[in-house]
Amino acid sequence: MNIPEIFGCNVFNDVVMRSTLPKEVYKSLRKTIDNGERIDMSIADSVANAMKDWATSKGATHYTHWFQPLTNLTAEKHDSFIEPVGNDEVIMQLTGRSLIVGEPDASSFPSGGSRETFAARGYTAWDPTSPAFVKEGTLYIPTIFVSYTGETLDKKAPLLKSMTAIDRETKRILKLFGIECAKVNTTVGPEQEYFLVDKKLYEQRKDLILTGRTLFGAPSCKGQEMDDHYFGALKPRVAAFMRDLDETLWRFGVLSKSKHNEAAPAQHEIAPIFSTMNVAVDSNQLTMDVMKKVALRHDMVCLLHEKPFAGINGSGKHNNWSLSTTGLNLLDPGPHPESNALFMLVLACIIKAVDKYQGLLRACIASAGNDHRLGGGEAPPAILSVYLGDELGAIVDSIVMGKDYVPKRVIKGSIGVPESPIFPIDSTDRNRTSPFAFTGNKFEFRMLGSSASVADPNIVLNSIVAEAFSEAADKLEKADDFEKACKAYTEKLFKRHARIIFNYNGYGPEWEAEAEKRGLLNHKNTADAVAECFKKENVDVFVRQGVYTKNEAIARAKIQLENYVKTICIEAKTMIEMATKQIYPSVNKYVGDLCRNLQAKKALFSSLPTTNEEELIKNLAFANEEMMTVVKRLTDDLKDLPKDERESANRIAHVVCPDMRLVRALADKMEMLCSKEYWPFPTYSELLFSI
Ligand code: ADP
Ligand code: MG
Repeated sequence: MNIPEIFGCNVFNDVVMRSTLPKEVYKSLRKTIDNGERIDMSIADSVANAMKDWATSKGATHYTHWFQPLTNLTAEKHDSFIEPVGNDEVIMQLTGRSLIVGEPDASSFPSGGSRETFAARGYTAWDPTSPAFVKEGTLYIPTIFVSYTGETLDKKAPLLKSMTAIDRETKRILKLFGIECAKVNTTVGPEQEYFLVDKKLYEQRKDLILTGRTLFGAPSCKGQEMDDHYFGALKPRVAAFMRDLDETLWRFGVLSKSKHNEAAPAQHEIAPIFSTMNVAVDSNQLTMDVMKKVALRHDMVCLLHEKPFAGINGSGKHNNWSLSTTGLNLLDPGPHPESNALFMLVLACIIKAVDKYQGLLRACIASAGNDHRLGGGEAPPAILSVYLGDELGAIVDSIVMGKDYVPKRVIKGSIGVPESPIFPIDSTDRNRTSPFAFTGNKFEFRMLGSSASVADPNIVLNSIVAEAFSEAADKLEKADDFEKACKAYTEKLFKRHARIIFNYNGYGPEWEAEAEKRGLLNHKNTADAVAECFKKENVDVFVRQGVYTKNEAIARAKIQLENYVKTICIEAKTMIEMATKQIYPSVNKYVGDLCRNLQAKKALFSSLPTTNEEELIKNLAFANEEMMTVVKRLTDDLKDLPKDERESANRIAHVVCPDMRLVRALADKMEMLCSKEYWPFPTYSELLFSI
């Protein structure tokens, strides 16, 4: 297979546009894509026609406005290209209007009370900055989704607005340094973790089918303690899946680059080469969709849940984030960061943003699934902090402490074998425990859950950093002596926000106590974390940056809580059903058989030893009885949930979740005692080691 040839073959990309569009149309469209200029409506018909011709040549019969409602998934409604002409005849057509606007019924998508159900009208509008593509016989046109009254109902519209905000405010900062540019790009490279399980086993577990995670399961005899899966050799079935996945993604122009086994058994990772933020977000949505489909082709199921299995690592997503303009990465410190005033100001503003809006950053990645990971000693803690690494850490320390910075000598590394090359050692080590780490020329936000859209954290990052830039520019634009004022302002920010910097082990127990002393937030669950979004200062930042209106910001927080409540209700109901219909009867049957066996033994030879058998019967019978008592209580917990999102989320976090943990503990204890033939579904060792 010729990879460069197949790469992007399903995408209406620059090469296709250049060869199919009239020159003027192409130039005009490029201006919109590259410089963010408003689209010239008069070119729409021409672009639509070229897209349709190209798509039909690829076998497409339909087109869809592909959008991202507030569900973490994408949505699509397919319309065929057919248009009747004359008697009994059709032509294939895509008009400029159909390319640009669509009108799906919006009533069944979450709106957080921002829209009445009777006002069901929603509009989709083409996003020309993300390329259209053909998939399964349909032309996919990336679009934003807004209501009749103009409120955003999706994740793309605010993402684009936040990109506009950061573009605008970064340019103000650059201008202070005498740099003019057409556009500042935000770039993102999301690393995506996932699990693969055998489809036949998956189908036997109601919890996996309905909730994406196991609600029960005693630990497998072997977990991840040998560290033998991380970067381990790929098993043939997994290797075949990964190959198929890469090839499929490359056809869609996704820059799939790295693949490897992850820490937990059956866990893997895929990472693309970074791209412009909104393209990266769309690519990640597409990647998640393709991963699930490709896995099915290999008789496996791809689990994107944050915590499919208790006791071993869950899955996250690392959001590598940077800012750049032609030829300049603003997060590249250069050889002497301490004298790179632009870099130091940018860094100080980012640190200020993360400190000031730590509540928003924590909230935007909160979900029922992610609650299992954060602070669990495998993913970053639930506390926001920034890791700078040795060199930058020392520079910032010297500023905070008012001392001169003495650069360390650059160490040339060698592995000690004469034949091996000498290589310069990076000035920053990797700190895997930090939620927000500087990694050479970008920040890596590591708290994201594996199943969530990467749009939300990037909307927040762009907005809060734009706000910090805007405040810096307001101040420095007025300065008489810019150089002096800039240095003083940078120092002030580092000093004021030093508490958010933490260059040590974020998994250590000491950090929680230390963070509390520093006054940093530590919200352990979604209900508590999302409460931050309702605070005035956290709403205002979005309003000021033109990303959300107040109503939109509040509606989104409500939807997030609603999703959390619904997710856990589904889990609890699934748990109740599995406990009542599968576990309880199975254990009961086993206990009954054990009792009959015991009776028979005793009747025949009263002297036979039966101590262990009796103990087993008692342990199982008591645990089973107790489990059903908690199951009944759990059923009651779910009754009459408060209407208010925040109250019901609180009930879920503080009443429902603890009872679910109890049911599980009892069931898992019984699983360890129960005979294999009686246990009603596949166990952890089967699920984790069957591929
Ligand atoms: P690691 O696992 O060590 O964190 P990876 O190589 O798996 O590293 O992932 C790093 C990610 O960061 C890749 O997706 C890469 O493309 C991305 N990246 C590199 N430079 C930038 C940048 N300037 N902006 C955004 N993302 C970047
Ligand atoms: Mg990483």
